[in-house]
Amino acid sequence: MRTLAMLGALSAPWVLVFACADADPPPVVELDAGDAASPDRVAPKLTVRDAGNDANDDWGKVADRPTAPLVSLDLGEVAAGATVPFDVPANALGFNVSIRAKSSDRGLSVSDVVSPDGGAILSGAVLFNGDHPTSRTFYGDVAAASVPGSNHPASMPRMAAGTWSVAFTGSGRGSVRIQSTPDGAFHGGFVDMHVYLPSGLVLDDETVEAGNYAAIKGARERVDAFGEAMRDLYGLERGNVAFHLVDASFLSVPDTRLASLFKLTAAKGDGQALHIFIVEPSSKQGWWGISGGIPGAATMTGTSQSAIALATLGGPDIEGLVLAHEMGHFFGLSHTSEIGGKGYDPLEDTPRCSDLTATKMDQCPDLRNVMFAVGALRDVTTSPLQRRVVQGSPIYRAFLSGEAPRPKAARAGDVGALFGHPGVPLAGSELVVLSSLCGHPDHEAAVAHLARATPRIDLERVAAAPGAHRVVRDRARSLAALSLP
Ligand SMILES: [Zn+2]
Repeated sequence: MRTLAMLGALSAPWVLVFACADADPPPVVELDAGDAASPDRVAPKLTVRDAGNDANDDWGKVADRPTAPLVSLDLGEVAAGATVPFDVPANALGFNVSIRAKSSDRGLSVSDVVSPDGGAILSGAVLFNGDHPTSRTFYGDVAAASVPGSNHPASMPRMAAGTWSVAFTGSGRGSVRIQSTPDGAFHGGFVDMHVYLPSGLVLDDETVEAGNYAAIKGARERVDAFGEAMRDLYGLERGNVAFHLVDASFLSVPDTRLASLFKLTAAKGDGQALHIFIVEPSSKQGWWGISGGIPGAATMTGTSQSAIALATLGGPDIEGLVLAHEMGHFFGLSHTSEIGGKGYDPLEDTPRCSDLTATKMDQCPDLRNVMFAVGALRDVTTSPLQRRVVQGSPIYRAFLSGEAPRPKAARAGDVGALFGHPGVPLAGSELVVLSSLCGHPDHEAAVAHLARATPRIDLERVAAAPGAHRVVRDRARSLAALSLP
């Protein structure tokens, strides 16, 4: 059994970025589209206003600039297993293809995507060069796939023009949304955002309510930090931002209500935007950040996979980076290496960690990558192929010409503050606690394994640490119960 002693010797502060959009559905989900008793059937209690409580507040607005129109193709009602053709123009950067089931279908997936020359871009819900499925449904109402998602020559660097085809494992309404520019090259773009805040949420000592939700300082700071990170990591810029107030019943969201939360996006309608929920962490939910899919249902609202969420624990800088990680998932990026030996992303230019155990984490060559499964050190980076995947998503409004921002390492916050010691690197037991903040069942098993290899006294010390976040202490306490005396 490995020990975690080496992790205490880390010389740089750890900045961990979670990491919770695996292909497997959460363990208990009762709130799918077909459940008549589900809160999903109740009209969302949503107040909708544009950013800013008054017309003079321009914080959420960006200067007008011409952007490429979104190309949407309705594939109509499609049958399970049918091969459905659609045309992709010569100037496309990528597309997101999805299916919405008529009734809940837990086996739903985008199973196959074939390029005009017959290339298998996606096969059995596994991307070319991939080793695990990513385009399966989470909750049974929708499934999506993004192309390019990996380095098949028909999809990157340039998309092949002509007639592509897709097949799904279930029946429902199929659609394709295509990102393009006049010359088929990436010139940057705006990511417009809808940010949803529940009534009663406390952000850095300010409480969200009807009179102030559009001007909450902590929310704006997190969005600003997110905007900086997405520019540095993906070459995209923060676009127009609108805040929305949601009912206090969504203040903390157990995994069983995540689908209901993300379906609230229906109130804003389809279109090119990223939908973000900021909520409180709770004991019934194990994530810091979470994405509605790899990829999510891009530009589609009202589905269980239409958004990302942040359960706020830390400061704006580090949570901006958490959002950049979840955005990566939502746009189609997998973890570079998965905890528990589940596999790797399908991209050849991202480093891989063959031993992602606690004792070896600090030696992982991908630990600076934004899609590292457990965390990333300061100066977080992306690879060229990762950026190419993100730039193929139809979610952003693409600029028609000009130079995109040059990629550079993203600035990150200090996770030591979560443990009551700002600026001080995390000990190995603290890393184990932090990695446990992901709530997916397979990840939980891997984390339990790590906990058993951690001295109980060290975890109990974290549980009692003065100044540590309540969620951190609670987690440490439950992990201590799993560890050996
Ligand atoms: Zn992740």
